[in-house]
Amino acid sequence: LTSVALTQHYLDRIAKFDPELNAYITVTPELAIAMAKEADAKLDAGNAHPLTGIPIAHKDIFCIDGVKTTCGSKMLSNFVAPYDAHVVEQLKELNMPILGKTNMDEFAMGSSSESSYFGPTKNPWDLKAVPGGSSGGAAAVIAAGLAPLATGTDTGGSIRQPASFCGISGIKPTYGAVSRYGMIAYASSFDQGGPMTRSAQDSAWLLTAMAGFDLRDSTSFEQAKPDYTTELNASLKGLKVGVPKEYFGEGLDAGVATVIKTAIAELEKQGAQVVEVSLPNKDLAVPAYYVLAPAEASSNLSRFDGVRYGYRCENPQDLNDLYTRSRSEGFGAEVKRRIMVGAYALSAGYYDAYYLKAQKLRRLIKDDFMKAFESCDVIVGPVAPTPAFNIGEKSDDPISMYLADLYTIPVNLAGLPAMSVPAGFVEGRPVGLHIVGNYHAEAKLLNVAHQYQ
Ligand code: GLN
Repeated sequence: LTSVALTQHYLDRIAKFDPELNAYITVTPELAIAMAKEADAKLDAGNAHPLTGIPIAHKDIFCIDGVKTTCGSKMLSNFVAPYDAHVVEQLKELNMPILGKTNMDEFAMGSSSESSYFGPTKNPWDLKAVPGGSSGGAAAVIAAGLAPLATGTDTGGSIRQPASFCGISGIKPTYGAVSRYGMIAYASSFDQGGPMTRSAQDSAWLLTAMAGFDLRDSTSFEQAKPDYTTELNASLKGLKVGVPKEYFGEGLDAGVATVIKTAIAELEKQGAQVVEVSLPNKDLAVPAYYVLAPAEASSNLSRFDGVRYGYRCENPQDLNDLYTRSRSEGFGAEVKRRIMVGAYALSAGYYDAYYLKAQKLRRLIKDDFMKAFESCDVIVGPVAPTPAFNIGEKSDDPISMYLADLYTIPVNLAGLPAMSVPAGFVEGRPVGLHIVGNYHAEAKLLNVAHQYQ
């Protein structure tokens, strides 16, 4: 099998199925085939990397030189990036043909991919359901076989929740493991890129390729390039699996609870030892996040002013009119809501009451995890309280949409690594198992997921 043939196979499937799913914002067939030809030359020469020639879809939040990069927004609907993100640069070096850019919530703000300027993506398992978000397009292309590998980003759950909703694997690494250079910023102290794939093994390979120190991201940690594939085959005998006693309370769908309990029993069967742990402040995570993430977003999104790049309104009367109309016409409702909340929380007089308070909660939540990891190696539970919900079901109710991230958000507040691995189905819709590790425990998480699968 040549890379050109493999790439063409995926391009054909995209042409056939994507008009219904709307999982891609941009498809790049010429680029894909040109890259596949280069990959084949390398493969023929004989010393290629295992990922060489395997096609990939990038979330439309990663800049690719010469390719439209929209971040799901009207604001960037005509923006062609002039450089590559660090993640893209590294995968290009391995000659992984780029199939296109996947759909997402506008500026990664959302849990259903419905806030995209380019229309919602459908869940391949049930076309009435959302694929999750914000990396919903990436999850859908993997589930539907429209790409073998994809990149995603996770600020509060955006890799793990769509992975759960679409029955695929995805990992958010420790904050600082993957460079944010060229990844359009939402909330910089939370944002992390990561792989979205069929299996945990594929995620281990792709994460190894995506991670690594990069001087252009000041929070990238300085270390030799890690290899996350080394522990995949280790036995789970003696592994201490923490189950937070607060996880199975009110709000958790009964079907999801059964799937997760069955998954935990499977880990026990493989020799893992289940211990009860406690995360007493878990309910404070969503409120803290919805102060901190919008605060950072309000600052990050100030660069979209209609002057330097992106959408510009017609016939501006003066500078103020240019700013005001470009931003009010270019941003969608959810993005505006977050900018307003964030600017309010940061304003003089409110800073101590909201931003500072939320930072203190962030610390408490991290401390809870550190305490829990004194008695276990990994923490497991549900990724989301329900399976995929229907398109339109939550779109008028931001609070219920925000609460859907109650299990994933604490992990981003603490900067820990976590993954979602397919665990079962509830009424035909997939459900993922959430595995959370201590800092830099990615190889362990991937090991647990691989053994479980
Ligand atoms: N749903 C969360 C939000 O809207 C998380 C999104 C994400 O991880 N990018 O902020």
